[in-house]
Amino acid sequence: MKAIYPGSFDPITYGHLDIIRRAAMLYDELVVVVLINDAKKPLFTVEERVEMLKETVGELPNVTVKASPGLTVNFARKEGASVIIRGIRAVMDYEYELQQSTINMMLADEIETVFLLARPEYSFLSSSAAKTVASYKGDLKHFVPNNIAKRLEEKLHK
Ligand code: ADP
Repeated sequence: MKAIYPGSFDPITYGHLDIIRRAAMLYDELVVVVLINDAKKPLFTVEERVEMLKETVGELPNVTVKASPGLTVNFARKEGASVIIRGIRAVMDYEYELQQSTINMMLADEIETVFLLARPEYSFLSSSAAKTVASYKGDLKHFVPNNIAKRLEEKLHK
């Protein structure tokens, strides 16, 4: 069975990485997809985010990384995937995810959204938190892998 894991990944954090590893164990194939949404004013370009994801999950044999504009369900259909993976950290995520996945259900009822709970050690972790800490030159070792910490530093301080 094939699944997709859509998100902004601006940039990938240890929380995303954990969800990717766990989803890759559950499904035969996992496509991590950077959804192009310029309304969010991302720090990194789509190409940079794809590159960072590839660097980080490259060793996982059944995981590929792509980028896509438009609706998540259309991407899932194009890929022949029947599952959308999302991560849930707290009640705050639930409200947003409930809305998104209900809309997706109405658009494509053959596609299921499967939620994986964040591990407790990552439940505080977000791309925004990593960017804030990086902007004040804080230690990123609990937030993102080394290669991503370097990219954040280059982007924000060079
Ligand atoms: P989006 O803009 O689509 O929310 P994100 O890159 O912020 O994109 O998140 C992608 C998915 O990963 C979302 O389902 C989000 O809830 C989940 N996620 C983000 N951070 C974590 C984390 N620390 N642990 C588990 N899931 C997470």
